[in-house]
Amino acid sequence: MNYTNTETVIETLTIKTTKTAHSRLAETDKTDLPFGKYFTDHMFVADYIDGQWTNLEIVPYGPIEMSPAMSALHYGQTIFEGLKAYKQADGSVSVFRADKNFARLNKSAERMSMATLPEDIFMQGLAALIDIDRAWVPDIENYSLYIRPTMFATDPFLGVRPSLTYKFMILMSPSAPYYSKPLKVKIETKYTRSVDGGVGAAKTGGNYSMAMLPTTKAHEEGFDQLIWTDAKEHRYVEESGAANLMFVVDGKILTPEVRETILDGVTRDTVIQLAKSLGYEVEERRVEIKEVLEYAESGRLTEAFAVGTAATVTQIYEMNFEGKAYPLTDPASRTISTGIAKKLNDIRYGVTADEFGWNWIV
Ligand SMILES: *Cc1c(COP(=O)(O)O)cnc(C)c1O
Repeated sequence: MNYTNTETVIETLTIKTTKTAHSRLAETDKTDLPFGKYFTDHMFVADYIDGQWTNLEIVPYGPIEMSPAMSALHYGQTIFEGLKAYKQADGSVSVFRADKNFARLNKSAERMSMATLPEDIFMQGLAALIDIDRAWVPDIENYSLYIRPTMFATDPFLGVRPSLTYKFMILMSPSAPYYSKPLKVKIETKYTRSVDGGVGAAKTGGNYSMAMLPTTKAHEEGFDQLIWTDAKEHRYVEESGAANLMFVVDGKILTPEVRETILDGVTRDTVIQLAKSLGYEVEERRVEIKEVLEYAESGRLTEAFAVGTAATVTQIYEMNFEGKAYPLTDPASRTISTGIAKKLNDIRYGVTADEFGWNWIV
């Protein structure tokens, strides 16, 4: 089934809905919404039991009960997604490229030996949840409703094997942009995010916990974020924190190609498509640290930025490699990435025509 604005949903799932008796909306300061801190009144939940998804429900947002032996807590079978809904210029609410996030959730599930989810449950659960908490979608410029689908193993069992039961939930958090200023980054050559044969392409919890120590160390050294490099040789740049990495060299966009060590970002794909539609050349290939630093020194590198749903388009103003600083161009001078970011935002907020069919009005 295709979730678009024109097609009728043939089979409508039954979602049991329990509304909250006390909405927190009125007491929430809509101008002070740090990323991921506040949640809407409701959440969507479903359980995987005996080989089937069941108990589809919308309930008030709140704590859940779990076994202390719950396997996700011990062995880390846990995955998530991140997407956003935007208040449109006409007041409606649009979810951006939800089909891509659905597909990636199941890709992550397969890599982590977890149950996969039917598209109807993801899409209809999401649509019903947005509908009930519609009033929570921010209408301040650059704010959005961050949507966090998550799935985790729930077997109350300490044996190491794929869980037989899972819980799927969708949480929603009205949020300001994740980064508010350009980044100073460290090219990391000691720690590793991801290895060939590993789980770097999956949005799974362990990929983020293992990044915390190196990221904290980088913060202590005065950096905002890391650039991860390949595990084998620390020769190629891969990603920037939990965002994909892009450069502009000689007017062309250069970005590390997606491989099993790199998360296949929806924003990355979106920016590439927009860049091409605006007439820019895009080169996707392995990118060496050495060449990026050479381009920076010779002035051929005119823009460097990170792209992701949370980060959107975040400029990088300085790179550091083995103790040496490589200052980049003034982010205010960067016309290519800012032009693409503007086009992207205009589509997301319904200011300009959605020629790619990326918005799903719910
Ligand atoms: C989520 C994520 C991204 C960005 O993906 P989007 O789909 O654009 O949000 C990039 N890298 C990592 C490691 C991520 O977790």
